[in-house]
Amino acid sequence: MSDDCLFCKIANKKIPSEFLYEDDTIVAFRDINPAAPVHLLIVPKQHIRSINDLTVDDQAIVSRLIMVAKQMARQQGIDKSGYKLLFNVEKGGGQVIFHLHLHLIGGWKR
Ligand code: 5GP
Ligand code: ZN
Repeated sequence: MSDDCLFCKIANKKIPSEFLYEDDTIVAFRDINPAAPVHLLIVPKQHIRSINDLTVDDQAIVSRLIMVAKQMARQQGIDKSGYKLLFNVEKGGGQVIFHLHLHLIGGWKR
């Protein structure tokens, strides 16, 4: 855990938040500034800065992020209508919180 990292604090319950999902390694919660009717963030409890910092040892956590996103899409009722999964990578890629997270975005009427 990194002391100056917002998502470390949320994922490790230093800041109270409502989790829609939690297991030993991952939490999911709603984005504070949703870009769509459903906008969740799937976040590892372990501090990893970005996709650029992944090592071979992190492969299991990345596949878990995607599996949890799939499960949350179904739980939110957007699996059939469809959704986007997004990793922003570093400043130029739009990343503003430098703790790895997967965006689950969907729920549009179209
Ligand atoms: P990034 O651009 O780094 O991929 O995405 C960071 C996301 O975190 C943004 O969509 C932003 O709205 C969200 N966010 C920033 N601060 C907070 C917070 O304190 N709580 C929650 N739930 N989401 C946050
Ligand atoms: Zn962190």
